[in-house]
Amino acid sequence: MTERFDFLVIGGGSGGMASARRAAAYGAKTALIETGRIGGTCVNVGCVPKKVMWNTAHVAEIMRHAPEYGFDFTPGEFHWATIKRARDAYIERLNDIYHRNLDVSDVTEITGTAVFKDPRTVIVNGQDYHSENILIATGGTPVVPDLPGAELGITSDGFFELESQPKRVVVIGGGYIAVEFAGVLAALGSEVTLLLRGEVFLRGFDATLRETLLEEMQNAGINILTCVHLARLAQDDAGQLTLVSQSGERMSGFDNAIWAVGRRPMTDGLHLDRAGVEIDPRGFIVTDGLQNTSVEGIYAVGDVTGRKALTPVAIAAGRRLADRVFGGQAEAHLDYETIPSVVFSHPPIGTVGLTEDEAHDMYGESAVKVYQSRFTNMFYAVTSHRSPTVVKLITAGEKDKVVGCHVIGDAADEIIQGFAVAVKMGAYKSDLDNTVAIHPTAAEELVTLR
Ligand SMILES: Cc1cc2nc3c(=O)[nH]c(=O)nc-3n(C[C@H](O)[C@H](O)[C@H](O)COP(=O)(O)OP(=O)(O)OC[C@H]3O[C@@H](n4cnc5c(N)ncnc54)[C@H](O)[C@@H]3O)c2cc1C
Repeated sequence: MTERFDFLVIGGGSGGMASARRAAAYGAKTALIETGRIGGTCVNVGCVPKKVMWNTAHVAEIMRHAPEYGFDFTPGEFHWATIKRARDAYIERLNDIYHRNLDVSDVTEITGTAVFKDPRTVIVNGQDYHSENILIATGGTPVVPDLPGAELGITSDGFFELESQPKRVVVIGGGYIAVEFAGVLAALGSEVTLLLRGEVFLRGFDATLRETLLEEMQNAGINILTCVHLARLAQDDAGQLTLVSQSGERMSGFDNAIWAVGRRPMTDGLHLDRAGVEIDPRGFIVTDGLQNTSVEGIYAVGDVTGRKALTPVAIAAGRRLADRVFGGQAEAHLDYETIPSVVFSHPPIGTVGLTEDEAHDMYGESAVKVYQSRFTNMFYAVTSHRSPTVVKLITAGEKDKVVGCHVIGDAADEIIQGFAVAVKMGAYKSDLDNTVAIHPTAAEELVTLR
């Protein structure tokens, strides 16, 4: 017999969880279908384990400075397996909390893989579920290129399964995940090569951030190779990996290769065709500004839509959708403009709004002003290694409206959230100038720029 719900959510990740719970809070009879571990990418193989590893690397870095701060201290050996165990246990606790949250929110949890039967019916484990409102929040999955030997490499999912630290590792890719993994591994003592297909990493980020990070990653001993087009991977009898480029160049002696070359939407086996849901040429589900798909009553949020693949974006889009469909807020929707983001690199990057190039394109060069300062955080006043901080404000128009704010340096990840509020509210440079600085901090430089 078909079970009926007001709202059926496919995918128990960031977007699906948030939308289901918000809809249930409005009294909608809601079910959430999850095929894997509750919490999705972010909790299990994304933001959460990644941040634990970034924190681990941060501890390693702080320990290196300890003697210069007067501590009679030599860092001991690092045990990868210890932090892996603690990290896995933390994630299991989060999984339990997520299950409980669904329960207390009155969301029915269905375990299994959802397959569309028709635009109003989804099948899970042979059972039909009917709803006039179905949300697709199935996220994405890492891409592995179609090359001979590609299966010898691991993806970000595999990185979080590693039981021991790779000694010599190559990270392939130029996005934020590649940069973050390379930074973590190098800080923990692995010998790291970062292999880029193009000339730069973090395309789409402000050039000043990219250039400063490149410098620091090279200072940290990361070998960054650009414009490498891979042809194949091979493994010798001792298990060591060799990468061969299309021009015949060989890079050998790696015990791990990590593919971080992008993510594709997770629509495998959903049978979107039976529902008539339109996808774009890259396979992402096409949505309008209200998260509607091409089929009335079927919505999509999060990574599967190919728009700003970040957890808070999926959550916000999912909640706004529930507000609109079940909360009587007819216009509720997520504004995808001015979304802040962070790269957990070493040092971290925080960014919101337009890059300098984007501002030039949008407003014309003569209307754009750039305020920038490069300095050494006071933390390094007594240390021999000095990691740089750069803050950059981009303004446009006669009144100097702040259209971009970019920071690289210690605590950039924490600094940017507050400035993102100001930029989102339409702050002018004069508003920042009128704000009294907090001293001594790195953030104060953003309100004292001339
Ligand atoms: C290594 C890494 C680091 C990241 N770091 C950050 C970060 O620091 N900050 C940040 O904001 N974002 C980060 N992200 C991105 C973030 O994880 C995603 O943007 C977010 O998880 C997207 O949420 P979602 O709901 O769209 O999909 P997901 O969280 O991927 O959830 C989708 C769920 O749907 C399930 N599913 C798929 N198909 C079906 C089906 N047919 N039936 C039932 N269930 C199905 C999947 O099992 C999955 O649990 C990171 C991602 C990665 C990979």
